[in-house]
Amino acid sequence: QNFIVIGAGILGSSTAYHLAKAGANVTMIDQKGPGQATDAAAGIVCPWLSQRRNQAWYQLAKNGARYYPSLVNSLEKDGEADTGYARVGAISIHQEKKKLEAMIERAIQRREDAPEIGDIKLLNANQTKSLFPPLAEGYGAVHVSGAARVDGRLLRDSLQRSAIKHGANFIEGTAKIKLTNNKATGVLINGDELAADTVIVTAGVWAKDLLKPLGVSFLVESQKAQIVHLKLPEQDTSEWPVVMPPNDQYLLAFGDSRVVIGATHENNVGLDYRVTPGGLKEIFGKALHVAPGLSTSTFIEARVGFRPSTPGFLPVIGSLPTHEGVLIANGLGSSGLTTGPYLGSELAKIAQGIPTEINVDLYPVSGALG
Ligand code: FAD
Repeated sequence: QNFIVIGAGILGSSTAYHLAKAGANVTMIDQKGPGQATDAAAGIVCPWLSQRRNQAWYQLAKNGARYYPSLVNSLEKDGEADTGYARVGAISIHQEKKKLEAMIERAIQRREDAPEIGDIKLLNANQTKSLFPPLAEGYGAVHVSGAARVDGRLLRDSLQRSAIKHGANFIEGTAKIKLTNNKATGVLINGDELAADTVIVTAGVWAKDLLKPLGVSFLVESQKAQIVHLKLPEQDTSEWPVVMPPNDQYLLAFGDSRVVIGATHENNVGLDYRVTPGGLKEIFGKALHVAPGLSTSTFIEARVGFRPSTPGFLPVIGSLPTHEGVLIANGLGSSGLTTGPYLGSELAKIAQGIPTEINVDLYPVSGALG
């Protein structure tokens, strides 16, 4: 069988990798423009402390976090030494002991069917600050050892390289879906026509425009996110945990003395690729309040990405009901680095007619059609 994957962010790259590894004939296509969510993402993999109650979402996020070690292992076997994934743990910080006690209770409950959450500990202010030195005084924390960080760019590139090793192709350009009667029979790209048995649409916020010529109104909304990268000269940040403060932002570190802070949640601004003073002010204000030690760090860059969200903030996955030959997954929102690799493996199963682990009826594509 012959598959074309349109959109090679984390979701499409994972889908293509799993298909190629299974021996299928796969072509990945990406326009490599600005704003790809995967390219800007922070990289926190820690779904268990979330207060979101939606069970269908939690199943995906939990399975996604659990799936990482085996995926990383299989990429390493393919020769990928740096997938960008590291289990550094996370601290959810608060100044009120009561809040921390409620948090630890929730975490212990969730560990019953998610042992990968690892050790759960209550940390006092000194212990908390010693794990992430730029923090302000006075924060205690709940520490979970199973949480991880992942560099979206590195993981995406590892998946793509491995897919190619397993025989996949990559084409850069903007694809359009080719229809014959009511069936997708391939794509139009860079002036060429490419045939496929199945076209897989993992196009993030751009899926709306891609599907419009088919007469399909696909309800994916874009949420703009700005995020900032800092450097702490001469500090070894490689083991620092992810920090989840009591606001809507986060801080996390990578190996090269780099600390990432953010991100904004900007609705109804469309595909606005700009870094704005208002966005930066919000990010710096919240981060420096929690971690004043970052105020003398070096500013490296700000990135902009668009989180794709489908109705109810719940991902969709499956066949496009209106046309033959089109599979879609979308709506990974703010947790797509957590769910994307796993959903990609599930989408590859659907494409090959293999039973999935998730109950796909919970994430119907029809739920995102207008
Ligand atoms: P994308 O990564 O956006 O990829 C879609 C791709 O499709 C793009 O590359 C685009 O070029 C391509 N495309 C579209 N149409 C076409 C076409 N017609 N032809 C060719 N190519 C096309 N998640 C977490 O789990 N943890 C985090 O800490 C986290 N932090 C985040 C921080 C920020 C700032 C942002 C923006 C997101 C964050 N996320 C996080 C969410 C996560 O990044 C996204 O949910 C996920 O990356 C979405 O992946 P995707 O593959 O669906 O879309």
